[in-house]
Amino acid sequence: MREEIINTKNEAIAQITETKDVRELESLRISYLGRNGKITKLIKKIKDLNPDEKRGVGNLLNDAKRIVQDELGRKRRELAESSATKKEWFDLTIPGKKPEVGTLHALTKTLTEIIDIFTYLGYQVTDGPEIETDYYNFEALNIPKDHPARDTQQTFYIDTMGANLSFGELILRTQTSAMQGRVMEKIEPPFRVLVPGTNYRYEQVDASHGFQFSQVEGFIVDENIHLTDLFGTIEYFLKILFGQKAKIRFATTNFPFVEPGVDTYLGCTICGGKGCSFCKNTGWSEIMPAGMIHPNVLEMAGVDTKKWGGFAFAIGSSRVANLKYHIQDLRILTTPDLRILRQF
Ligand SMILES: [Zn+2]
Repeated sequence: MREEIINTKNEAIAQITETKDVRELESLRISYLGRNGKITKLIKKIKDLNPDEKRGVGNLLNDAKRIVQDELGRKRRELAESSATKKEWFDLTIPGKKPEVGTLHALTKTLTEIIDIFTYLGYQVTDGPEIETDYYNFEALNIPKDHPARDTQQTFYIDTMGANLSFGELILRTQTSAMQGRVMEKIEPPFRVLVPGTNYRYEQVDASHGFQFSQVEGFIVDENIHLTDLFGTIEYFLKILFGQKAKIRFATTNFPFVEPGVDTYLGCTICGGKGCSFCKNTGWSEIMPAGMIHPNVLEMAGVDTKKWGGFAFAIGSSRVANLKYHIQDLRILTTPDLRILRQF
């Protein structure tokens, strides 16, 4: 039996060495070490031997089994290594994987366009705080504490408990116009300034209103500024943005920080003027309130109104994005849904 064991072991080693692939190696393992494998069968025979032989043959068989197992393991590693080397071969003809390319958000695109147009007209772009003081958001804009105009701007108040501030002093700004006072106090006229930013109002969310909206404030302080300059600027801007055929309408309105106040309407691009839910069936969309800066606002910021005057406007950039990309619902602008975002 000793001879049989040695022969079986040598035969196994020879076959394992010859093997070319993993599947062949596995069938060799089964044929020697499997339930009916040659070595397994030899092990089963041990019990028929006499006790003297048992130990010697047992040791020999155990050694044979271990050697075959080692050989199988060595060969398996060798085969794995050679197949790994094969994978390093580089096929230049295989088409590459296209990386996913993101797109700019409709609102970002709109903002960039607005900024480009006004930069061309000589406006400087600046930024301001979204957590604003009551002073800059209201009082500096000629809206004192008891003014009824405050009712039209449902305000979010910041909890100032524990801080050295009185309640109502800090708010989330309701209009980018809050930057007028901040800028006028800091720089000397003449200037043209553009302030893109986000505002917040406690509003019922619907197709054309949101509690958070994007606005671009613009204002100019210079000598000899007239209402016609404001009309010209608005018309130039809207016709570049919406094309020369864009329909524009001005109406008088009243805001405490302008005198006179102007409301700008754009012919609804979503329904083409026929009337839809977005334009509340009027065919027109209110897009850009404006006006000549009220002398009180200039004086509060220390601007000499005998010499300087100016106009201001606020572009509802979320609404512009809706009208430009024909999005009926303002809420779509804040959706994270990629199927929608990829369309722009
Ligand atoms: Zn419409």
